[in-house]
Amino acid sequence: MAPRTSSKKSSPAPKASRSINVDALAARAKDMLSLIGEDITREGLLDTPQRHAKALQFLTSGYHADIDRIVGRALFKEDSSEIVIVRDIEVFSLCEHHLLPFYGKAHIAYIPNGKIIGLSKIPRVLDVFARRLQVQERITTQVSEELMRILKPHGVAVVIEAFHMCMMMRGVEKQGSSTITSSMRGVFRTDPTTRQELMHLLNGLKSSR
Ligand SMILES: [Zn+2]
Repeated sequence: MAPRTSSKKSSPAPKASRSINVDALAARAKDMLSLIGEDITREGLLDTPQRHAKALQFLTSGYHADIDRIVGRALFKEDSSEIVIVRDIEVFSLCEHHLLPFYGKAHIAYIPNGKIIGLSKIPRVLDVFARRLQVQERITTQVSEELMRILKPHGVAVVIEAFHMCMMMRGVEKQGSSTITSSMRGVFRTDPTTRQELMHLLNGLKSSR
């Protein structure tokens, strides 16, 4: 499947204005259980509303995360301008259309322009956007835009390959198919040779394992 390249500006990240009221959310979850016909008094379900609310709180905690604080002082002066790739980063998110998970792998590359970032921070930037209600296309774009903002590098590339439970468990039930999205910025976008080098590195590493 050919990667889709997105150059569109993503819509502004939705900002939740306050943190979640877990008890109120648990009350709604209880309503939901009874609306699907469950006996909410049976033992296995007694704590489910509260657990569900807390899980949702965690899975949407990206709305309240402060990226600049997460990145903190993990930015370092460095002259290198070679491609840096962090590949096979696990990504878990919730599709905003069905509130069902989608998950997969992200590969994130950048070319420094005087500054590098602590490598462990890259997955954390990804999580800030993955822990929201999302579509895969938007996470891909948001992560690349954010890394452009933080690092002002020569270029950023984000490729995500994910499986969507809303496709796999219901509807078309295409268990085997994954969706690939990519967002190229800077030289990855403007210079075909650099983009080719990236694809070569990604594919080469994959087949050599
Ligand atoms: Zn969905």
